[in-house]
Amino acid sequence: MRERHRAWADDFLRDNTSLIITDAEERKGRWKELFGNDHPIHLEIGTGKGQFITGMAEKNPDVNFIGIELAKSIIVMAGAKLKESGVTNARLLHVDAADLKELFAQNEISAIYLNFSDPWPKKRHAKRRLTFHTFLEQYEHILQPGGEITLKTDNQGLFEYSLVSFSEFGLKLKEVHLDLHSAEVPENVMTEYEEKFSAKGQPIYRCRAEFT
Ligand code: SAM
Repeated sequence: MRERHRAWADDFLRDNTSLIITDAEERKGRWKELFGNDHPIHLEIGTGKGQFITGMAEKNPDVNFIGIELAKSIIVMAGAKLKESGVTNARLLHVDAADLKELFAQNEISAIYLNFSDPWPKKRHAKRRLTFHTFLEQYEHILQPGGEITLKTDNQGLFEYSLVSFSEFGLKLKEVHLDLHSAEVPENVMTEYEEKFSAKGQPIYRCRAEFT
């Protein structure tokens, strides 16, 4: 997603530190305290403008959601969306997903969502893909046993790469959709990219994979 300068971004970040958390490393192992309950915590990596995390938080009040987004001008859009919705079970982190072990303790997370992650099609950039084995090692560490990754993408190359990467890492594939919108999937919450690509008639791929 292209970064745009948003003049209000710094002010929004400064004024909304209870929503876009700035002391994330200090909360490692204690995220439940922030939410004030024992509900499972689901993590979305590359939240974008926040339609998915907002919709999921509204639909699943018994789950806590944390969205990670690297780009400042984009995370503030997600923050504004969450704020407007009034949900209390979601927070955002303006950080790079490369350092998840610094932010979350072992087994602290119950599920991970990767929605329309950047495909990094060049082979020499493979290590930047969010399904490269170094990322999977982090996910395995922070996820509780039996924790799942759900991946959605329009990009066939990234999808095929991820299926192989999951299998080589020993994850169990629980579901593979080659055209998600052709099926009845009532729990599906659309992301901004998903709406854009499906409006163009492109199939949406989805898989769920479990650490065993
Ligand atoms: N998930 C959204 C959707 O489906 O509409 C946005 C998809 S966009 C293609 C990918 C997003 O992931 C961008 O907003 C980008 O800034 C973010 N991103 C990419 N690499 C990241 C990383 N290592 N850590 C956190 N966010 C990242």
